[in-house]
Amino acid sequence: MAEIDKHFHKDDIPWIQGIPIDLYMEDTLFWPFTPNGQYIVKSGYRVGREMNLNPTRCSNMTDIQKWWKMIWSLHLPPRMKLFGWRVCHNWLPAKMNLKHRGMEVNTRCELCTRYDETLTHALWSCDKVKCIWKLLPWYKQASKLGEGSMFDILKSLEQIINKQDFEDTIKILWAIWENRNRK
Ligand SMILES: [Zn+2]
Repeated sequence: MAEIDKHFHKDDIPWIQGIPIDLYMEDTLFWPFTPNGQYIVKSGYRVGREMNLNPTRCSNMTDIQKWWKMIWSLHLPPRMKLFGWRVCHNWLPAKMNLKHRGMEVNTRCELCTRYDETLTHALWSCDKVKCIWKLLPWYKQASKLGEGSMFDILKSLEQIINKQDFEDTIKILWAIWENRNRK
């Protein structure tokens, strides 16, 4: 945990430490990283360790620090900030993520039935959600961001839209994700 202390404001640390346990129990009622969906402590540690070993790709620690500070300082309800954090870490049970964790799932996107459901596909590039993004005035500038990770997309977006628009973006992502999982 000393590593966390170095990079986060003290007020943010309880959030971060609380994450692996709260997250899936409350929202989705299953833990996507074990085959039977049960949260087990070992799995939580493993996921946590992988996240530490593979931090979001920023070469510069100051950039990372600034980025997370920005995320946690958004004027959004806590669960949406947490959602933004999970999006950046690709830590949501999109079907391809489940498959990479060893679960046997049909990875095809159920909305368009044309592509595999990566997190980026589910939230950004699926035709069925793109029509929402296209309504936004800044989308033209963002339409060339491509198919990288959601973290890459958000990092680029943050450069071209203002804070208010960025907050709205997280809200829309949240709504898209909630809607996708309500079926
Ligand atoms: Zn799709």
